Amino acid sequence: MVPIIKLKKGKEASLHRKHPWVFSGAIASDCTSLEDGQLVTVNSWNGTFLALGHFQHGSIAVRVISFSEVDLNQEFWNTRIAEMVELRKKLGLLSATNSIFRICHGEGDELPGLVIDYYTGVAVIQCHSIGMVQHLSEITDALTLSLGQDLLAVYHKSSETLPKRHAITDGYLYGEVPTPHYAKEDGISYAIDWINGQKTGFFIDQRDNRTMVGKLSQGKKVLNAFCYSGGFSLQALKNNASVVYSLDSSQKAIALVEQNVQLNGMEDRHISVVADAMEFMKELPEEFDIIILDPPAFAKHLDKKHKAVQGYKRLNAHALRQIKSGGILITFSCSQVIDKSLFNHTIISAAIESNRKVKILYQLHQPADHPIGAFHPEGEYLKGLVVYVE
Ligand code: SAH
Repeated sequence: MVPIIKLKKGKEASLHRKHPWVFSGAIASDCTSLEDGQLVTVNSWNGTFLALGHFQHGSIAVRVISFSEVDLNQEFWNTRIAEMVELRKKLGLLSATNSIFRICHGEGDELPGLVIDYYTGVAVIQCHSIGMVQHLSEITDALTLSLGQDLLAVYHKSSETLPKRHAITDGYLYGEVPTPHYAKEDGISYAIDWINGQKTGFFIDQRDNRTMVGKLSQGKKVLNAFCYSGGFSLQALKNNASVVYSLDSSQKAIALVEQNVQLNGMEDRHISVVADAMEFMKELPEEFDIIILDPPAFAKHLDKKHKAVQGYKRLNAHALRQIKSGGILITFSCSQVIDKSLFNHTIISAAIESNRKVKILYQLHQPADHPIGAFHPEGEYLKGLVVYVE
């Protein structure tokens, strides 16, 4: 029997608008006896069914999985996973030149807390809410069904995204494939290691932006700061950049970049730097034509927003001050609490501070396999600007 949570009168409006979260303040029922991850039915104050979702103690109390009364049986998962895989295929993401994409993007795919990434035959599942863990077996079966021969293994990796108290063990749920495993993005080969790498092994969300950087790179001197496994560097090299510096504070990340540069036979024009980007940016060793800044989220919570803005401003001001005249800064923020407009203002104020005249050429965002739910604008987390510096 699925427990029922009743909302306070008037608090049903956001669910009628299909927003996928129920905040604790909207709930009338006593939830103290409920466990984190438990499946619950959400009813309005007068008993009308509103949604089915996972309960969790905290500010976001319910993450909605369905707005209709469904059974979360195998058929439910088969249908949902098949729809998501179909969409990615429609987007041309599974081809001879591309075999890296996101199958499920949490709220954007109406499955809050569930991320599934795909690397040539291997699906890596990462849960961001404990409720999803109870469905792993159905999700795995659904993946085998919808991907067929395109699936060799399913790996579960939630030990770092879920609180320690849940004592999650990572491991294969289906098949087994040794790492590093090789996969392609836009014709470039990458060694992917979901076991030891950051996140699920690769930052898939920058695919389109990397392609864009490639188009600007011909004959250019490029600095790729916060490079992780080097996606931007490889696109620049493939498109005949004259030299590319890849910088990361993690030695492991730099080892990955070097492996990927070698894998694609592009060692001749590549320089690796292990350093703190903020320090390195204070005084650059060369004048660069293109500088890419893709730092980790400076603000994971609202209370860190002000400090994060200061951090983005300082970092970008260093780049803007020193970039070559006629150069291009490509700068990102993946902090969810910093919206597009605040990010734009921050970069503009960095330009004013560094006394450079700039034009915004492109506004960048996350790619189509990281969709934004129409009723969940908070899902737009990746923002980027391509800034021309006169
Ligand atoms: N641009 C990358 C993804 C960046 S993820 C891609 O396209 O794949 C952020 C990276 O920043 C991580 O690799 C992390 O190791 C690195 N990092 C975090 N803090 C840093 C710092 N202070 N200086 C340099 N790199 C840093």
